[in-house]
Amino acid sequence: TATGNVPEPICAEIDLSRIAANAHILKAHAGAARLMAVVKANAYGHGAEQVARTALENGASWLGVARVSEAVALREAGIEAPILILGVTTEAGVPLLIRYALRQAVVDAGHARMLSQAAERLGGKVLGHIKVDTGMGRVGFDAVQDPGEASARACASAILEAAALPGLQAEGIFTHFATADEANLVEARNQLARFTSVLDDLKARGLVFELRHAANTAGIFTLPEARFDMVRGGISLYGMNPSAKVRVDALGVRPAMTVKGNIVQVKHVKKGAFISYGGTWRAEQETVVATVPCGYGDGYPRLLSGRGHMLVRGRRVPVLGRVCMDMTMVDVTGIDGVAVGDEVVIMGSQGDATVSADEIAEAIGTINYEVTCMVASRVPRIYL
Ligand code: PLP
Repeated sequence: TATGNVPEPICAEIDLSRIAANAHILKAHAGAARLMAVVKANAYGHGAEQVARTALENGASWLGVARVSEAVALREAGIEAPILILGVTTEAGVPLLIRYALRQAVVDAGHARMLSQAAERLGGKVLGHIKVDTGMGRVGFDAVQDPGEASARACASAILEAAALPGLQAEGIFTHFATADEANLVEARNQLARFTSVLDDLKARGLVFELRHAANTAGIFTLPEARFDMVRGGISLYGMNPSAKVRVDALGVRPAMTVKGNIVQVKHVKKGAFISYGGTWRAEQETVVATVPCGYGDGYPRLLSGRGHMLVRGRRVPVLGRVCMDMTMVDVTGIDGVAVGDEVVIMGSQGDATVSADEIAEAIGTINYEVTCMVASRVPRIYL
């Protein structure tokens, strides 16, 4: 910046050697299938460009994003690997799809026609991956509505028409599981069966796709028969478990993100003192309070008011009262020598203690995916 090095009170350290190791573990479990590194939403908060490069050097050969803007940013950073846009691109995005040779999910007959017509007007072709909705109910050519065979056949007919459009080059076909991370895999297997029926019907009618893909991280581990030609790994690339039921930590997958900062004030408060907005916490005894320069403006959830924990000198310390926008107070009573400038870990490990994304997610009723996505853009990412 113009003013030189601006000090930041907190940062998110991203250990790229962990991303690399996690990518190798995913690749090893993908069998013969290629690995797509899913780096949408700024690589689940970790930084898309750095994660993409690291994953590509360590077993991944494709990238997945949600939006054209995310794909264009990767191209402009000089990344040349194939990129699939998993979300829906509208007409305005078609010139960019063509200019940057991006692969686009094609989600229904109308979307296919729009993409093809826009591409023809530009004198090009859109590289498409046909999305099949086998039960997620989000986007895709519908393989669910009619029962069994009829549904697969109708779905395949619509896909055949789309694949024959002059402005579309259908390179791949894929689906997405809604429940591959659950203990009960009945519905995930139903989805897989629907996908296979559509593929079989297409094959019988002469259409074979080069790249068939279905498995997300959970699917890689729970449904080996769903690996096809490529798997799409997101959450465990970042070192997190897809769910409490599908745990990959035992395989050596380790979190890559640590959010940390330095204490900005330490004070001894008397019995009866109030801390933070609303005075929801009151000292029942003399207490040592440390102020941490991190709040909901950084993506530290306000729902952790009075319930979160951070790490100071290798010990878990509870959040006192409400989380503010930029600061949060913690109880450091009984920990020797806590001083201004001491490191505080907001998420991650310090010594033998850990506050995981899973723990934060559990405390606020969400999933680890959301916790790392929430880390605000004002928190600088530092790459190790
Ligand atoms: N494929 C699609 C279509 C997705 O939307 C996502 C992420 O939500 C993934 C793959 C990666 O999923 P996960 O992070 O569970 O591996």
